[in-house]
Amino acid sequence: MAKIFINPGHAPGGYPDPGATGPSGLRESDVNTDVAAMTADYLRTAGCEVMVYQSDSLQDICDQANAWGADAVVSIHCNSFSATSTGMEIYTSRGYTRADDLATLIMAQMSGEFPVLPVRSDWSDGDVDKEAGLYVLMHTIALAVLVELAFISNPAEEAILASHEGKRKFAAAIARGVTDYLSQ
Ligand SMILES: [Zn+2]
Repeated sequence: MAKIFINPGHAPGGYPDPGATGPSGLRESDVNTDVAAMTADYLRTAGCEVMVYQSDSLQDICDQANAWGADAVVSIHCNSFSATSTGMEIYTSRGYTRADDLATLIMAQMSGEFPVLPVRSDWSDGDVDKEAGLYVLMHTIALAVLVELAFISNPAEEAILASHEGKRKFAAAIARGVTDYLSQ
């Protein structure tokens, strides 16, 4: 049974770090918590073993994932820049790894659910993922991806992130991307 570690980004309950906050006051940490819980439900239904772990400490997150022996790590965040920034991103560590394949499959599912949201990629390596030296991606033993669902700073995207249906669709897409990866 595959062991999938899901990390909702930023501090549990938003204290001390809620992550980004949207124009209407929606907190990123709360969206991340909800989407992670829904993703976990879908993955458990699909037969995965799931650990959801949220912490203000990036090292703590990596330690927990490594000690548990995760097969894959999915960190869930919302993007934030300006009111007109738009779209979805997935980060992996630099260079080609199996995380690139997982990122491609998750993004394919997210674009299916949200055809109006652009896929943001630098296409640096021909893959849909963006690559960066993000801490959780660098310090987990398992392959890891960091999903930026949409822009909480954009009022239209904040509304999607605030809605049960929007969160459910993101969760379903992430879970299907993971099960697509496991079954390939
Ligand atoms: Zn974040």
